[in-house]
Amino acid sequence: MTVVERGRRVAFCTLGCKVNQYDTEQMMTLFRRAGYTIVDFDQEADIYVINTCTVTGRGAAKSRQMIRNAIRRSPMSVVAVTGCYTQTAPDEVAAIPGVNLIVGHQDRHRIVELCEEAMRREVPIRAVNNIWQAREFEEIPIDTFSQATRAVVKIQEGCNVFCTFCIIPYARGKPRSRDPESVLAEVERLAAQGYREVVLTGIHVGSYGKDVRYRFTLEELMERVAEVPGIERVRLSSIEPRHVTDRLIDLMANHPKICRHLHLSLQSGSETVLRRMKRPYTAREFREKVERIRSVMPDCGLTTDIIVGFPGETEAEHRESMAFVREMAFSRIHVFPFSPRQGTPAATMPDQVPKAVKEARVREMIALGDELQRQFHSRFLGQTLLVLAEEEADTEEGWLEGYTHNYIRVRFRAGDELRNTLVPVRLTELADDVVVGEMAGRAIGSTRPDRERIWLPVVGV
Ligand code: SF4
Repeated sequence: MTVVERGRRVAFCTLGCKVNQYDTEQMMTLFRRAGYTIVDFDQEADIYVINTCTVTGRGAAKSRQMIRNAIRRSPMSVVAVTGCYTQTAPDEVAAIPGVNLIVGHQDRHRIVELCEEAMRREVPIRAVNNIWQAREFEEIPIDTFSQATRAVVKIQEGCNVFCTFCIIPYARGKPRSRDPESVLAEVERLAAQGYREVVLTGIHVGSYGKDVRYRFTLEELMERVAEVPGIERVRLSSIEPRHVTDRLIDLMANHPKICRHLHLSLQSGSETVLRRMKRPYTAREFREKVERIRSVMPDCGLTTDIIVGFPGETEAEHRESMAFVREMAFSRIHVFPFSPRQGTPAATMPDQVPKAVKEARVREMIALGDELQRQFHSRFLGQTLLVLAEEEADTEEGWLEGYTHNYIRVRFRAGDELRNTLVPVRLTELADDVVVGEMAGRAIGSTRPDRERIWLPVVGV
């Protein structure tokens, strides 16, 4: 059992999206470099950092819950709160008794010194600035990534689309792209540690390179990342339909290391609801893009996000959205009940949909999503696909799970020694959320050296 020096223990809790997970990795890197030891969030620590989310009301509520958990567990420790909830509602967060420090997105690089200052001060410290003054990407390279197999690399920050339901632009500010050389250097570091797959993420990935002096497109960056020795897969986290260029489609269709998986957030399949959301495309344009993608990559995994119960959504609009989603035949759907976010136009729109109606529509859309996922999975039964073996299946010992390039979750019988290798698996049967398969050849690539596992809760919202 490692004895950790008092005064040098820090624990983290992350809520929300992949970008937040990456931001936490940045702060962990800074603490490690300052000689701190990262301990489990449910263990005693001298500093607790809660990286919050506010994309939904539930996200903000869960953030408050994790903050209070830390304060209750260790009242003498420093409780520091960062993330989007802090950036958009600093007064609310600062008002929670026991919070010692609140830090906005622009001051994440000062997290260690601010926490050490908070240790010396009685009164809470506020380091939250106007995020719209941010002009540069907050460059804090990570040394490593806590998840075992797939590493998330942040390449872009911010969004200025202002969809009427979305709080994110108010939390993250203007679009800011990261220096491609810094991205490549980080991917090289991660590859040297044995990471095989890199997930390129950002708040509005499609606007990469459109705001700065780097004469680098997203496609060029993806190609360069795929050329880094040791990297077997490059995956995009999410992108808007209008940013899916023919160049990107061709790259995904022809490059052996670029995953044929696109997370295209649709949000609604109703033209009139899309207009009220001020989404930058119509359902017709979305359909044309999907047809283009499928004409070149029929096996592409197309996943999406759908909001149900947007203000004013009639039964007819909900039916229209369901019909459109069925027509698009997505391979996986994340369904969200509309959640009014204070400060966004949709929060004060008339005809807010009653809770019970929203819940019924959520159930319907989820059921449709499950049906479409099974249809997509069943298309690949009998085929052999490469699976990046990530972790032991939590259902059975001696079974591993991982994703195919087109984002099918596969479970197959194999020993732990194959974790983090690419395994050819013949898909044999559907099972709940995954497809069961059997090994159909030798694994590719070497496993990663095992290392101590720290409990870093990543709380979904
Ligand atoms: S594109 Fe719309 S939904 Fe996405 S982050 Fe920007 S404002 Fe939010």
